Amino acid sequence: MSYFPIQQLLKAAPVGATITVKGWVRTKRESKNAVFIALNDGSTINNIQAVAETGQLAEETLKLITTGACLAITGQLVESQGAGQAVELKISDVTIYGTADPEKYPLQPKRHSLEFLREIAHLRPRTNTFSAVLRIRHALAFAIHKYFNDNGFYYLNTPIITASDAEGAGEMFRVTTLDAIKPPLNEDGKVDYSLDFFGRETNLTVSGQLEGELGAMALGKIYTFGPTFRAENSNTTRHLAEFWMIEPEMAFFELEDNMNLAEDFVKTVIRYALQHCADDLAFLDNRLKEEEKTKKKEEQSELGLLEKLQFVISNEFVRLTYTEAIDILVNSKPAKKGQFQYEVKWGVDLQSEHERYLVEKHFKKPVILTNYPREIKAFYMKQDDAPATNSRGDVFGPTVRAMDVLFPGIGEIIGGSQREDDLDKLVARMQEVGIEPEALWWYLDTRRFGSAPHAGFGLGFERLVLFVTGMGNIRDVIPFPRAPKSAEF
Ligand code: ATP
Ligand code: MN
Repeated sequence: MSYFPIQQLLKAAPVGATITVKGWVRTKRESKNAVFIALNDGSTINNIQAVAETGQLAEETLKLITTGACLAITGQLVESQGAGQAVELKISDVTIYGTADPEKYPLQPKRHSLEFLREIAHLRPRTNTFSAVLRIRHALAFAIHKYFNDNGFYYLNTPIITASDAEGAGEMFRVTTLDAIKPPLNEDGKVDYSLDFFGRETNLTVSGQLEGELGAMALGKIYTFGPTFRAENSNTTRHLAEFWMIEPEMAFFELEDNMNLAEDFVKTVIRYALQHCADDLAFLDNRLKEEEKTKKKEEQSELGLLEKLQFVISNEFVRLTYTEAIDILVNSKPAKKGQFQYEVKWGVDLQSEHERYLVEKHFKKPVILTNYPREIKAFYMKQDDAPATNSRGDVFGPTVRAMDVLFPGIGEIIGGSQREDDLDKLVARMQEVGIEPEALWWYLDTRRFGSAPHAGFGLGFERLVLFVTGMGNIRDVIPFPRAPKSAEF
């Protein structure tokens, strides 16, 4: 190897050996007798300190060693004299690959705001915070593939360009090669998509689920892990226009199996991150503690990041029905004091303020809500046999075997369901909500030929990364975020 990754170097610490490291200067500090360079190569949050005696490096070279410059440093690894690091490099040679003019380089060794860093997303991976987030993101992605592989799932790649606009999961981005200024029109004056690339209207996918179901009905257990696009204009801290989704789909799973899998799955991948990203998580834990100190007492969170992650993996998620949750919410203090922005009653879709009340105030644990009203959920969810009733015997409308997993600080992290496997019920429901059964003939074929109970869910990858890193904005857990009016880089 022509150089030693700093992560391996600090771990192995071969004191006495002469080695080369390559990376970017974080800081340079000069004392009376020596110059200290903190070098980082992205392999770890930790820097290697390299030391030269005053006068050892040529003035011209020293001038070019500034924050952001890229160097190769060769030297002997020795035990460190100073506090803060066990070993350091006694410089024998420095090569400057690239300089970084301190007048122009935007990343100086001080705390930059996350908003500012979003404007320089091309450079922010060089900061401690973002490099930590990106390494954790990688570890989680790896843990997800590992979890499914270990549990007999097959990775299925579902299409990114789809012609089905029937999934009902949100606004779509159109994919077309037609002339934007003068598209061909048909007799009715509408765009003639039969002349488009695919001979029909196509969009970027909002979910791989429908195709995922086809895979499950042949391979048994599959999962997807791919990019997903939603053109909804939601400028929130939890929505992106382009995000990554993990969608397992399992033949012969019913709602309860689905819940068990979802809970075991998220706990396992969080445990993996705790085991494999200890340095990065400790850094982010600290960062969050500093940030909390600037808040008012009553707004400070009770648990630190590491405590919160430990808490989630060591407690059972609370499971209850939507109808039971509505009961709790209707009788809650904020509802009675009129503190919820949106009204809460049986039949409404829960807003994030309601979800967070349940998770953060009432149960203080992750929650799985099930059996939602049919009217607010997608057409493919399995219909329950009897309408919902509450403990007082009130009877409500029909429900479906849906499950949403709600997390503190995030709200919905997973949405899933058992799927309707009865052809007649599924077709009837499609017609009720105005979806042409013929348009999804291939989807319905799984119910025509060898149908079986099956279930699945979708986990928004960035929401998981948001939770594990303790970051506050989803745009800070993906390298290059796509959101309304924002597609630079
Ligand atoms: P929400 O109500 O939060 O908008 P949703 O109900 O539209 O989410 P689903 O269609 O159930 O979401 O998608 C499955 C999962 O994908 C969600 O649980 C969430 O983790 C994630 N997700 C959905 N929309 C987005 C988005 N715009 N950006 C990032 N993640 C998303
Ligand atoms: Mn959902």
